[in-house]
Amino acid sequence: MAEETIVVALGGNAILQPGQKGTAVEQRANIRATAGAIASLVEMGHRVVVTHGNGPQVGNILIQHEAGSDQVPAMPLDVCGAESQGQIGYMIQQALRNELRARGLPASVASVVTQVVVRADDPAFGNPTKPVGPFYPEDRARVLETERGWVMREVRPGFWRRVVPSPDPVRIVELEEVRTLSEAGTLVIASGGGGIPVTERADGVLEGVEAVIDKDLAGQRLAVGMGADVFAIFTDVDRVALAYGTPEQRFLDRMTLDEARTYLEAGHFPPGSMGPKVLAVIRFLEAGGGRALIASIKQAAEALAGKAGTTIVR
Ligand code: ADP
Ligand code: MG
Repeated sequence: MAEETIVVALGGNAILQPGQKGTAVEQRANIRATAGAIASLVEMGHRVVVTHGNGPQVGNILIQHEAGSDQVPAMPLDVCGAESQGQIGYMIQQALRNELRARGLPASVASVVTQVVVRADDPAFGNPTKPVGPFYPEDRARVLETERGWVMREVRPGFWRRVVPSPDPVRIVELEEVRTLSEAGTLVIASGGGGIPVTERADGVLEGVEAVIDKDLAGQRLAVGMGADVFAIFTDVDRVALAYGTPEQRFLDRMTLDEARTYLEAGHFPPGSMGPKVLAVIRFLEAGGGRALIASIKQAAEALAGKAGTTIVR
């Protein structure tokens, strides 16, 4: 098979497994395994660009900032997002460099701190849905609402969290920089955590906003921008299912674009988990992308060969 450009979106479990605390040792061990899977794709001759989630990591960073805020100023959410790109990007780029070197492959890897433009008038800003950061009791939540203008929601009886908007990604700001590096042979890690959300004024000035972006939807923008042949979303299930979690559950090897649209409409893919993945795939194929995969990272090479995971084609 000819060399392909593959944009790989890594889910949370590529970095942290369910039930783990999130220590650096745990994250490094998971990332080492992930780096092995990605290196196999490089070894097959493919050009790879990596993006990744940041949910647990940015959550922990927010807790650290809040806990330390009587000693040092807490940073806003966009800055915390940048911090998470740095820490996760560092761990992935180190593990990948080590893995590529060990296989005798060219080992140029770099993470790019990436901003993603969202629309200031995105309806999500009027309807914050994404819980972030620590849990608070009601009295503290009320204080934060008035003092900081945060929107707080009771997520479990007696436990309140800040909720932030999750606007639709429009454009990867550093796309040209990512392309330049990638064309020069560097394996680039970009748009981590869905990118740092920024708005763009009419005069072109960018400004960070307090929001989070879905990493699969941002990954789709990256994939199209890179002219990717394949958009591969690696997550913690082996395949996409219909009627997931019910007795009628049926896993799919293959789906057409039309089927993906129909199943999404019919409610097979919930928001916040499989929904944005399938929507991202639909957008990728609509924009002219070749094929998309939703598969387990453990079966990355098999999925690329169509022997594992769910392949989605036009
Ligand atoms: P990631 O960190 O990879 O983005 P998510 O938790 O956001 O992971 O999404 C993957 C999860 O989606 C799976 O663990 C699975 O429980 C859930 N899921 C929901 N609907 C489906 C479906 N129809 N088919 C497969 N998995 C589904
Ligand atoms: Mg997700």
